[in-house]
This record gives sequence, structure tokens and C-alpha cells, in this order.
Amino acid sequence: MTSVLISGGTIITMDEHRRVIKDGAVLVQDDRIAHVGKATEVTKTPNVELEIDAEGMLILPGLIDTHVHLAQALIRGCADDTSLVDWLQRFVWPLQGNFDGEDGRVSAELCMLEMIKSGTTTFLESLLHSRYGFDGIAESLEKSGMRGVLSKTVMGLPGYGSEESIMHPGMIEDPETCLREVEDHFKRWNGAANGRIRVWYGARSLGGCTPELYKRIAHGAARLGTGVTMHLSEVQEDVRYAQKQFSKMPAEFMDQVGLVGRNVVFAHGVWLTESEWQILAKKGASVAHCPSSNMKLASGIASVPEMLRTGVNISLGCDGGPSNNCYDLIREMKTASLLQKARLLDPLVMDAPTVLEIATINGATALGLQKEIGTVEIGKKADLILVRARKPHLIPDINAVSNLVYSAHGEDVDTVIIDGKMVMEDRVVKTLDESRILREADERSTKLLERSGVEIGHKWPVV
Ligand SMILES: [Zn+2]
Repeated sequence: MTSVLISGGTIITMDEHRRVIKDGAVLVQDDRIAHVGKATEVTKTPNVELEIDAEGMLILPGLIDTHVHLAQALIRGCADDTSLVDWLQRFVWPLQGNFDGEDGRVSAELCMLEMIKSGTTTFLESLLHSRYGFDGIAESLEKSGMRGVLSKTVMGLPGYGSEESIMHPGMIEDPETCLREVEDHFKRWNGAANGRIRVWYGARSLGGCTPELYKRIAHGAARLGTGVTMHLSEVQEDVRYAQKQFSKMPAEFMDQVGLVGRNVVFAHGVWLTESEWQILAKKGASVAHCPSSNMKLASGIASVPEMLRTGVNISLGCDGGPSNNCYDLIREMKTASLLQKARLLDPLVMDAPTVLEIATINGATALGLQKEIGTVEIGKKADLILVRARKPHLIPDINAVSNLVYSAHGEDVDTVIIDGKMVMEDRVVKTLDESRILREADERSTKLLERSGVEIGHKWPVV
């Protein structure tokens, strides 16, 4: 049995009572939390192999990013300042339609490196095309030490909403092959790496699947006992399309095809209406809120406080390299809070504690892992991050939650433990070769741009 004692810091437990414990300690045994409390109460067991002095640190559950595109890290900065459909058609799809398996693997490693270094321990990847190389990405996830849900794309139509046949040929997949591959990947990888890896269905958004295909996804997920994620009501076009094709609002249509349930995470939900919030709340589906992406693509602002009041489980997502353009969930928390205050002209909405719930326990609930992760409690998986708080922008240390949400950024994360294993110590990632990944990512993205013929158009001369 391996045992780690972390002591001396301020623990933001996120437990039922939301206790914040000053001079706290956490005892980890194997992959689980064995004890949490005041440092004076948590006794050192004789088999402690590693003692971490967390004096001046915040100790909290690892952050959970519920909307990530691993394969978009490689195309960061390649699709700025345009709206969603144009962004997909002219930049993202032609670039990703030229990916090979090595591009997919390196992009995933770059993305995971960034997530680990900014405190994310668990993520939900939403759309993996088979050309990105599912096995290579799953192997990288296993090696990284992270906890992740990998969703294999399922699609039937090469369009977005009413924009038919606009998808790059390299992105088109056959629905039967997609469905078969989800099952193959599920058999091979679901529950692998001591349960750190899960496999879900990644349904394409409206206009990308027939109603029949959505029904088959719902049946497949029920049969395998797994989850489904999908972009929903991200832009107004989603609403227009659902009304024109099905005479329904997007979430009403998804409910009709059996795809609203506890095992479903909808990304964005910007244009969902009150009657749709009620459907999601009643059926227990989650919405992954992605404020930076919605702002950058000018998609709109999701009604997050209203959805929370209706009882919808809202989690948080960074989305992708060309839509955010970073995978730093600490930065995303601040954005999520400030955006709603400005929209509603109400400083009371989306306070720091609410946002931290969204990034931790709500994320765990979205993934059906609320009994395993999302809080620092006895019996839960030891997914913990330590944030170095003795820095000018985090002093005074009067209000730990406020400092974390409003003042910190990803680079303040010092130590990351996932599944009881040390993944990052003193900002050095132990599981991935950072310098090799940075070099390969630069080389591969340059070649990818050349191969795809995509012109990103620099505004200023690059000499
Ligand atoms: Zn997305």
C-alpha cells in the first residue's frame, strides 16, 4: 500500500457542508482519500511514503472540464475572429480533415499537458474522428495519468444545421462504421487504467445525424450503459434548423429521439429556452457551459443562473484550441462568473463558490462520477490539486475561494495528484515529456497547415 500525507495548507473540500479547512491535511492511501481534516487530527500512518508540505497552498479537488476537443490543441491560433459555421467550414474541418493518427496523438498530448499544468484532472472529450487515431489517444491518456472520457464521433450527414454538405471530405464518416467503432473502443478501453478511461458516444450536432441515427445512439448507450455528449443550441442556426425540420426546439427534439437523460452532456446550450431547461432538469441531463468559446465565436451567452435555478446540472468547459484558445479551467471560472454579472446587471449571480461548484462537483455529476470524484472526502478517488498561494496576486489569504476564482490562473497550480499518483510536482509533469511534445506539436502544426492549404491570413506582416 502506498500512502501520501499532504499537510499544512487550506483545503477547499467541496464536501456536503462546503468546509474550508485552514491548516488542513489529507491522507491518501493507494488511489483513495483516507482522511481529511485539521493537520492536528490527521494522524500520520507508519507507512507514509511521501510527505508534502502544503504550507501556503490551497488544496482542492482536481478540476473537471466537461467539454474538450483534444484534436484542436494543434490548431490553436489557426481560426480566430469568425463565427461558428464559417469557422468550421473554412478552417477547423479542412485542418482536422488532414489529420493523421500522429497529429491526433500529439495534439491530445499537448492538450493534456496544458490541462494538467492548469489543474484539470478529468475531462470529457466530445468528438473524436477515427482519423485522429483513437487507440493512440487512449494510450496517451493512459500514460498521462489523467482521468478522461473519450467520445467517438457518430455522424450521418456532412452538414451543419441547414448548411448541407459543407463538411470537408476528410471529416466525413460512415454512420455504421462509427457505431461499430464506438462498441469496439468501448470493449477495449472502457474502465481501462484502473477505471480512469471511459468511452462515450459523441453525437454530431443537429444537421449531422438523422433522427434514426440519434435513436440508435440512444439505444446503443443504454445497452452499453455508457454516456453521450453532443453540441446543442450553440448558435441560433441550431434553433432555426430544429424548428424548420422537426417543428420543435432542439432539446424537445432530442427528448423525442430518447437522447435526454442522466448519461447525456450537452455542450453550450446557449439558445435553450425555459421549457427546454425544464426538460433537461426533469430528465437529469447536464449542460457544459463554455463561456470563452461562446464569446469568441460570438455565439451568445447561455442563461446559466436561470438554468441552475430550474435545476439543470451545469458544468464547465474550455472547448478547443481555436475557440477559447486555451484549456485553463481556472481562467474559465472567472470568465463564467463575470459574464453573467454583466449580462444580468446583477453582481449577486454566479458568485465564486457557485462557479467552483460548476468546475468540480457539477462536472463529476455530469460524468456520472459524483461518488468518485469532485470533492475532497474520505473514500473518494485521490484527484487533488495544490495551488501555490504565496504570490502577490493571491495575498491576502483572507478568502481562499475568492482568490482561486477571481485572482488565480492555471500557472499557480503547483502539484497534481490523480488516482493517488503524482502527475505533476513543482510544475514538472512526471508522466509526459513536455519538451518533446512542444517540439512535435510545433512541427506537426506547420506541416498540417501546408498540407491542408488553409490560409490563416496574418493581419500584420510576419517577416
Ligand atoms: Zn465543442
